[in-house]
Amino acid sequence: MGEFELIERYFARSATSCPDVILGIGDDCALLAGGARDWAVSTDTLIEGVHFLVDVDPAALGHKALAVNLSDLAACGADPRCFLLALALPHVDENWLAGFADGLFELARQHGCELAGGDTTRSVGGVAITITAFGRVEAGRALLRSGARPDDELWVSGSLGDAALGLACLRGEFSLATEPRRATIERLQRPTPRIELGRRLVGLANSAIDLSDGLIGDLGHVLRRSGVAARIEWEKIPRSATLLALGESDQQRLALAGGDDYELLFSVPPGRRAEIESIGGYARVAVSRIGRIEAGSGLTVVDRDGRAMDIEAQAFDHFRP
Ligand code: ADP
Ligand code: MG
Repeated sequence: MGEFELIERYFARSATSCPDVILGIGDDCALLAGGARDWAVSTDTLIEGVHFLVDVDPAALGHKALAVNLSDLAACGADPRCFLLALALPHVDENWLAGFADGLFELARQHGCELAGGDTTRSVGGVAITITAFGRVEAGRALLRSGARPDDELWVSGSLGDAALGLACLRGEFSLATEPRRATIERLQRPTPRIELGRRLVGLANSAIDLSDGLIGDLGHVLRRSGVAARIEWEKIPRSATLLALGESDQQRLALAGGDDYELLFSVPPGRRAEIESIGGYARVAVSRIGRIEAGSGLTVVDRDGRAMDIEAQAFDHFRP
C-alpha cells in the first residue's frame, strides 16, 4: 500500500460537521475559517535517516524544517504568521540545539513568522522534527490543487532537479566539481519557500502546488484533483547549468522525478504571460512556462520533436516498496 492509498483508506473520512474546516485533507494546506482571512495550516515531519543525514549542519536543518512547511503555505498563496515546533531528541546536545535554533529563527524572521508553541520529548531513535505552520489568505481565495482548467498554461518557478542531484552527490552517485557540488547540496539542504510568488499569484493562478516529491507525481495530484490532463514540453523544463551538463537520462530522472525542489507549479489562464513574468521579477525568481492543461486525464511529456516520452520515472512515495 502506498502513502496516498494509506491516507485515503484510513484517514480521509467524509467531511464531518465542523463548519470551521473550509477545506480538509487533500491539498497543500487545510483551510480554516478566520473571518476576512482564512487560516492556511500545514504540518510536515523530518526524520533522521529518512529526510536528513545524521551529520547535517544543524542550522541548515532548522532552516529546512520550517522551509518545507512555509512552502506549503506558499502553494496556497498564504502569508506565514506563526508555527508550532515538536522536537523528539535522543539526547541534549547544546551545540546542535544552538545551530538548529539559529537556522530556524533566521528563516522565521525573514517571513515574520513567530514560534507560538510546540512539544519537546526524548526519542529512542534519531531526531524527529514536526512543524505546523499557520498562514493567512484572503477568505475564499487560497490557491488550490483542484482549480486547473483546460487551456491553462502550466508554469514552474526556479529550476528543477538540483536538490535531487545534491542528494545523489551526498550518496556518492555523482561526483561534481567543488562549486556545483556545494550549490546543489545547498538547494537540497536550504530550500527557498516561494512565499512572495505564491501571494502574488492569488487571483491570477487557477491552481498551484509546491514540488516536494517530484514534478510528475506532484503534477499528478493537481490533474487528479482538477479532473484534467496535461501536456509538458521536456525542452522547456528549467534546468541549471549543472544539470544540463549531465547525460539526458540523468537530467530526465532528476528534473521530472527528483524531490525536494520546493518550487511552485501553477496553472494560469492563457494571455497572462507578461503579468506572470513581472510577478516573477518582484518575487526574484525565474518563472518558466512548461506546458498546458488539457481536457481528459493523464500526463504527456513530449520531446522537442513533439513525440511522447516514456516517463516511467515515479514520484517519491514513503511506503512504495
Ligand atoms: P504535502 O506534500 O504538500 O505535504 P501530501 O501530498 O504529503 O502533502 O499530503 C496529501 C494530503 O494528505 C494533505 O492534505 C495532508 O494534509 C493529508 N495527510 C497526510 N497524512 C495524513 C494523515 N495521517 N491524516 C490525515 N491527513 C493526512
Ligand atoms: Mg505541498
